[in-house]
Amino acid sequence: MKLYEYQAKELLKRYDSHFPRGLVAYSPEEAGDNFRHLGNPQAVIKAQVLAGGRGKAGGIRVVNSPEEARSYAEKLIGSRLVTAQTTLEGEEVRAVLVQEVVPIHRELYVAFIVDRKSATPLLMGCPEGGVEIEEVSKRSPELIFTEPLDPLFGLHPFQARRMASSLGISGSVLRDAAGLIMNLSKAFIEEDLSLLEINPLALTPGGQLSILDVKADFDDNSSFRHPEISSIRPSPRESIEAEASSYGLNYVGLEGDIGCLVNGAGLAMATNDIIRLYGGRPANFLDVGGDATAERVAQAFRVLLEDPRLKAVLVNIFGGIVRCDTIAQAIITALKDRELKVPLVVRLEGTNSQKAREILETSGLKITFSTGMKDAAIKALDAISIIPH
Ligand code: GDP
Ligand code: MN
Repeated sequence: MKLYEYQAKELLKRYDSHFPRGLVAYSPEEAGDNFRHLGNPQAVIKAQVLAGGRGKAGGIRVVNSPEEARSYAEKLIGSRLVTAQTTLEGEEVRAVLVQEVVPIHRELYVAFIVDRKSATPLLMGCPEGGVEIEEVSKRSPELIFTEPLDPLFGLHPFQARRMASSLGISGSVLRDAAGLIMNLSKAFIEEDLSLLEINPLALTPGGQLSILDVKADFDDNSSFRHPEISSIRPSPRESIEAEASSYGLNYVGLEGDIGCLVNGAGLAMATNDIIRLYGGRPANFLDVGGDATAERVAQAFRVLLEDPRLKAVLVNIFGGIVRCDTIAQAIITALKDRELKVPLVVRLEGTNSQKAREILETSGLKITFSTGMKDAAIKALDAISIIPH
């Protein structure tokens, strides 16, 4: 689960103190109030979305008065911000962070990732951080420095000092930077993050370090250890995910409009792929499990139909352990007390598929039957008038 910048900063403040003062605002009025609370002649307003690239996309701006803070927040909140890291539709801004402006001498990059190659957590750093970091890493890969973390010990202090020095820091700031890097490494491990990225870590003309931007991704597999992190769930799509997970379903919301109900993660991925291959866009990834019970399938169907963007539903089930007639029954149960407003395409193959088809055909539900993945995908696209390519 990705954390918003303001959430990640709150979390990290328990480990380190190099943060500019900042207050989150959910309304333009609040943004104006926050500006006054900070009490400086200037503040930076930052759109809170779960994607980077906001600076280049107009999601970050320095303002000079409470009125300006208010009016810029008014422009952002409720709008959709499109950045190089979002989809073309962008992401809705629900809050802004009002933060004190820090004078910047140099922008540095520091990140912790889980590195597949070395199979360890990895500290990465670059002396040329900021909004052009992707270009820098392509143009000058020699400017990216790494330090693998010992899985048992964590980061060694000498590694933190070596990284600080690679970032071009020397003299009295070196000790401070190494301490900051050590603190972040502890946060990365203890909070079970899969990504922690500081970009920029600002070095001020006066030799102070300041964590201006944080990107953090929390590993949901450890949510049982972090009830405080798991309890932060802001957007409606995420609430569908939360509900699905309470039923033991594997649901991931996507940007499209074709709802998919599939058994088995591999088949679910293949279903999403084939929809995209022919020019459609899946609304979700939903794996009801290889051993899907009728109960679970019915719940999955209900969860799926909560998505207001749906234009069609594709059920793709291969009956192995689970029998197709059980699934057919579950579909009927799920649709007993609600009207299906979108076309439903069903592909049921495997154990008892014939029986399943008979059950569905006599149910009176309006269903398009298909055989095979390709046929199913094309019929789903057809149902929403997309010409398959
Ligand atoms: P991102 O574009 O989503 O990564 O958002 P950032 O928070 O990293 O901001 C983008 C850029 O805005 C930074 O690289 C800085 O150059 C600039 N910026 C952000 N906050 C401040 C600040 O407090 N002072 C100054 N001088 N620049 C800032
Ligand atoms: Mn940034």
